[in-house]
Amino acid sequence: MSIIDFLAAGLTGSPTWAYVVYFFAAIQLTIFANTLYLHRSAAHRSVEFHPVIEHMFRFVCWLTTGMVTREWVAIHRKHHARVETDEDPHSPVAHGIWNVVFHGVSLYQKSKKTAT
Ligand SMILES: [Zn+2]
Repeated sequence: MSIIDFLAAGLTGSPTWAYVVYFFAAIQLTIFANTLYLHRSAAHRSVEFHPVIEHMFRFVCWLTTGMVTREWVAIHRKHHARVETDEDPHSPVAHGIWNVVFHGVSLYQKSKKTAT
C-alpha cells in the first residue's frame, strides 16, 4: 500500500457511506448511554441495568465523550440541587443558551473541579 492509497482510503479503506453510518450510530449510542445509563440509572437510580449492560454503557461514554460516570453524576446532581443559579453547571438562564449548547464541555470541565 502506497502512502497515496493510504491517504485516499484511510486505515480501513471503507466507503464514505460506512463513515456516515458509523457517525450516526455513534451519536445514537452516545445519546442512549447518556440518557439511559448516566441520567436515569447512575444519577437518579430510577432504572437498574445488568452489570454487563452498565459496563457497555460506560465503555460507550468513555469512547465517544471521555466522560467519567462518577464525575457526570456529581455534576448532574449539582445541577438538580442548584437549578437555574450561577452554580448550575448547565443552566441556560445563568450561562446563556449558546454557551450551554456550544461550550457545554467547558462548563462541564469547570464544574467537575468543584462538584466531585
Ligand atoms: Zn436529572
